[in-house]
Amino acid sequence: MTSPKYLFIGPIVQTIKSGASIELQIIEKAGIVVQDGQILEIINRPNKSEIKADNITILEKGQFFTPGFIDCHVHAVQLPNIGLGYDKSLLDWLEAYTFPLELQFSDNSFAEKVFEAVVIYLSRIFKQKRTLSLGTTTACYFASLYNEASLILAEKAVKYHQRAFVGKLNMDRVRDDDYYERTDISVDNTRKFIDDVYKLKSSLVNPVITPRFALSCSMKLLKHLGEIAKENNLLVQTHVCENTGEIEECKSLFPDCPTYMSVYEQANLLTNKTVLAHGVFLEDSELKILAKHNSSIIHCPSSNTFLRSGLCDIQRLRRNNITVGLGTDVAGGNFMCMLDVMRSALEVSNHIGFIQGDSYKPIDFVDAFYLATLGGAEALSIDSQVGNLIAGKKFDALVIDLQAKDSPLDNLKNLTLKEQLQRLIYSGDDRNIVNVYVEGHKVK
Ligand SMILES: [Zn+2]
Repeated sequence: MTSPKYLFIGPIVQTIKSGASIELQIIEKAGIVVQDGQILEIINRPNKSEIKADNITILEKGQFFTPGFIDCHVHAVQLPNIGLGYDKSLLDWLEAYTFPLELQFSDNSFAEKVFEAVVIYLSRIFKQKRTLSLGTTTACYFASLYNEASLILAEKAVKYHQRAFVGKLNMDRVRDDDYYERTDISVDNTRKFIDDVYKLKSSLVNPVITPRFALSCSMKLLKHLGEIAKENNLLVQTHVCENTGEIEECKSLFPDCPTYMSVYEQANLLTNKTVLAHGVFLEDSELKILAKHNSSIIHCPSSNTFLRSGLCDIQRLRRNNITVGLGTDVAGGNFMCMLDVMRSALEVSNHIGFIQGDSYKPIDFVDAFYLATLGGAEALSIDSQVGNLIAGKKFDALVIDLQAKDSPLDNLKNLTLKEQLQRLIYSGDDRNIVNVYVEGHKVK
């Protein structure tokens, strides 16, 4: 028996790549034919009586489809710390807030409660929904140091149908609070975690190699992780050049490495499947290393602002052919919705323009939209599957409605689809995301 065919009819607003340039594509009336979660065909101005489908969904007037949002960097364990500790900078904040919270994930029932909140509900009673209903169809998660807790997060993503990369953290630098693992144990636990995630047999959820950052790992551990990533062809995620104090400490811990980035290069951790969060203070030589290995930077503008790390100039990265995605970096970032991160990216880029003057071209809302969708997919090397709604890709999509119930926006003017996208990005929130689909499944 063949699986049912679904037909979705409505406008599509998305970005596409035309050569090296990014274009906004608007299809005023599209028919999206979906089977087994995959887009079979996009039909311009469809005549629904001529298309065979088992189920037809027609968007209401004023609604439109966009690709799902991709959060390329989020610490699932840190949800309980959102909005706390922003009077500190990175290294002090980690000690005062982050590590004490993360230690609590040795308790599986605590992990269960937090990860349920991350993926689906903050409160079932008040229906305060999290990442999925905020439009994040793909999340690249830093999970926990502990295997069991990390696996609970992977199971939640499978259960609630979120596309996810889940990383068991690696840290082998000895700490007084015992929040680390011996090198050999860290390696064994990583291999076991990868096996356990594969046993879930989910097409949506995959493991990702996750050394926390150079400061928490020995070169021996980093090299082992580089081997494991290569053996299993896995994505690697970590942090780089987030804060000036952190960079100084990295140089003293790894005196043989001229730069922070060169630590990862020496460990063979840099590939086209490596995503490095922040990159606020990259030297020119580090950009060359990144470009050579085709690794990506994940821009986390909210976190860079609230932890007072600095202004990351992604236009400089893009000029140097570095792929850039966006991340909430919760709880360094203050909210889990990618709309807020797009807005932060726009603000930061404008602020850089104030400093650099008229010759600087800040990013615009189309750039921000691209970064949160197709750009993120490219960074995570899943752009053959998601990032925009074209034939052959998965149906990971949002239905946007600026006039939805409880919408914060007015309807005093008629707007084009391009203007509606612009308004969504600058002034909308999750109340304007009325439906969310992941691989054809309606999750909101
Ligand atoms: Zn982070």
